[in-house]
Amino acid sequence: CGIVGYCGPKSVTPILLDGLKRLEYRGYDSAGIAVEGSDAIKVIKRTGKIQDLRAIVSVNLEGHCGIGHTRWATHGGVTDINAHPHLDASGKIAVVHNGIIENYTALKASLEKQGVHFVSETDSEVLPHLIAYYYQGDLEKAVRQALRQVKGTYGIAVIHLDEPGRIVGARYGSPLVIGVGDGEMLLASDVTAMIAHTKQVVYLEDGELVSLTKDTYTITDLNDQQVDKQVDEIQWDL
Ligand code: GLU
Repeated sequence: CGIVGYCGPKSVTPILLDGLKRLEYRGYDSAGIAVEGSDAIKVIKRTGKIQDLRAIVSVNLEGHCGIGHTRWATHGGVTDINAHPHLDASGKIAVVHNGIIENYTALKASLEKQGVHFVSETDSEVLPHLIAYYYQGDLEKAVRQALRQVKGTYGIAVIHLDEPGRIVGARYGSPLVIGVGDGEMLLASDVTAMIAHTKQVVYLEDGELVSLTKDTYTITDLNDQQVDKQVDEIQWDL
């Protein structure tokens, strides 16, 4: 339902929680965040409201890059395990997903044949496992290869422990916008989640993928062709 991501010098957890809070108006049943620590991706997620999530966020959830999600369940019940972010088996890749992966049953079956163990009932969990399957040291490339196998709708944000300070995002049929800050970068499904930090935004189109760090962003399509986009300035205040 809602996505927010941040890379920059500030402490990421409060930024993600505030961003999710601003996405509440869209409705949701669960929420969660994944923060890149120095030696692990730390995930906190649960059913209920952002304030319930806030209550279980520990003080040691420190980091400068992370992703968050508000879920409106479509596949799999409203449970803590089905909440996003979802991890791959190594725990190094975290994914949040808006939309519906229509061919997830087939993708799940072929991943299970490779020995992958699924922990949730969601369609979304195929994404971290598929990205892990393709990963050979380049997250952007692995996401692109994974998405070529996917049918359905998605707005996604992905982080990998081995590529600290980077978020890869992509969209098809579900909105995603980049927030270009001064030494910090955001990614969200909706500008309301980032307006407190920047008014410079770049809207992604269907079939586009972004790889961002706190200082840079590059946009490509699923064929790895670079796409040049304009930066828009949001004209209103919240
Ligand atoms: N289909 C996914 C799920 O049920 C994502 C739903 C959403 O867009 O929040 O977990």
